[in-house]
Amino acid sequence: MEPSETCCLGLKGNVCSYPRGKVLGGSSVINAMLYVRGNTRDYNSWAEAGNVGWDYESVLKQYEKFEGCQDSNCGLYGKNGELEITTYKYQEPIRDILEDAYKELGYYREYSEEKPLGFWDSFVTINKGTRTNTAKSFIEPIKDRKNLYVALNAEVSQLIVDKSDKTVKGVEVKINEKILKLNAKKEVILSAGAINSPQILMNSGIGPKEHLESLGIDVVTNLRVGENLQDHAIFSFAISVDNSVIKAKTDLDALDDIYQYFMHRSGPLSGVELLNFMGYVNTKNDSIFPDLQLFHTAMGADNVDALEEMARATNLPDELTEAFKESSKHSSNLFITLQVMNPKSTGKILLRSTDPFDKPKIFPNYFSDENNEDLEVLLNGIKLSKKLIQTKTLTQYKAKLVEYTLPNCKEYDFDTDEFWKCSVRNVASHLYHQVGTCKMGPERDPAAVVDPRLRVHGIKGVRVIDGSIMPTVTSGNTNAPIIMIGEKGAELIKEDWLQNIHEEL
Ligand SMILES: Cc1cc2nc3c(=O)[nH]c(=O)nc-3n(C[C@H](O)[C@H](O)[C@H](O)COP(=O)(O)OP(=O)(O)OC[C@H]3O[C@@H](n4cnc5c(N)ncnc54)[C@H](O)[C@@H]3O)c2cc1C
Repeated sequence: MEPSETCCLGLKGNVCSYPRGKVLGGSSVINAMLYVRGNTRDYNSWAEAGNVGWDYESVLKQYEKFEGCQDSNCGLYGKNGELEITTYKYQEPIRDILEDAYKELGYYREYSEEKPLGFWDSFVTINKGTRTNTAKSFIEPIKDRKNLYVALNAEVSQLIVDKSDKTVKGVEVKINEKILKLNAKKEVILSAGAINSPQILMNSGIGPKEHLESLGIDVVTNLRVGENLQDHAIFSFAISVDNSVIKAKTDLDALDDIYQYFMHRSGPLSGVELLNFMGYVNTKNDSIFPDLQLFHTAMGADNVDALEEMARATNLPDELTEAFKESSKHSSNLFITLQVMNPKSTGKILLRSTDPFDKPKIFPNYFSDENNEDLEVLLNGIKLSKKLIQTKTLTQYKAKLVEYTLPNCKEYDFDTDEFWKCSVRNVASHLYHQVGTCKMGPERDPAAVVDPRLRVHGIKGVRVIDGSIMPTVTSGNTNAPIIMIGEKGAELIKEDWLQNIHEEL
């Protein structure tokens, strides 16, 4: 990402880390395996904005088609689809202690997509102790089909566009340092994710006129490609708790875990620990829909390796890592991660140059909304967590906020509102849920890039099918909704081409 004036100010390099899966199966191969559909309002609001066929009832049918829940207690989740998912519940005492503490505060209810305020142990993309992903679940079973060819290590630079009739004819792709031109018999489907799908469109002259012209790229179609970048900003902090709550692992425990995993595909290494115990809260108490999602991570005392790894992966400044390490010398750490559910801040993707293989510029713009509503949600979340620490349940385990200072926030006393605001702008990050940069919307929507059938407006022969088409980010982790977009997109393609064939006959 590009350095920002509103976020990630105190992280190493002054940027948030921005990983994505550059691999067959994309980010589903490297993600945290939490499987969350999102709630009714997410999809009904897409439909209300003119996206016919994307209401909750309609998308539910798509979910049920591809979900392959492997358990006996799948509830309303699909059982016969390609994507294996399972239920999972962390077995260490901290899981139930947290449930009791949230109950004491009156926040604990069973979560469902229809009644989305509450807590649950989310499904996970794990089957028999092993990660599932979109490549394994959807491509592996059909890899020998005669009409499927997969090119690995292949990088698409741009679309081949016939400007005379505004039709996409194929793609230009680099394989083994050779640039090939591949023609499409019917149409091109672009699924390069929320950063690269807009990049490929803009490389091809499809994008904001003023931006393309500033680089000297011929404009084929003037669309707001790359805008409306949405993502879930997060803020994490630590609570020290008595060592009896979170068991510290000895080297021998670690060996046992490894044995258990390799021999039986079970034990701690076969799950996601406490991460899928998540909560949804409306911090303003003004709706039956959440504005905050909460995640929890438990770390036993003296787990310096894990702390350093966390710090490395998220660019944390040394001062913060040292505070966590210091606290972990005497006690266990419970990390609470607060996530802004429906962000008001939006960012954008721009091209860096006319070289189609150059990395695009990413401007996430977290906490840039005019009224600071996103920051406010996190502040409310911090207040809620402080109440959590004061519950009878957690006080008996000596729960206490881990204090820290940051170089950019030295003028504020720890735990004042000003300190937290400063801290959020400095070390808050995101949960890698980038979406929205090829926004779906009807023709009347000036910000729309694709129509509700995922065809790019104003040009024939190309659809976008990935997270970039979301008009607004869903309320929760984005992998499941994006797989649903893939399933729905496949149905739209089949409907359209079968209809063409019928008309020809
Ligand atoms: C570290 C991490 C943890 C996450 N944890 C979770 C989680 O626990 N639960 C959850 O629901 N979500 C999670 N997410 C988010 C979720 O995985 C993503 O939202 C989702 O996978 C995005 O899907 P996509 O198809 O839109 O894009 P991607 O998954 O990014 O797929 C894009 C694909 O296009 C390919 N590509 C890009 N450019 C080109 C090009 N020019 N030529 C050819 N190929 C190209 C890429 O290699 C990739 O295979 C996480 C993401 C990350 C990065």
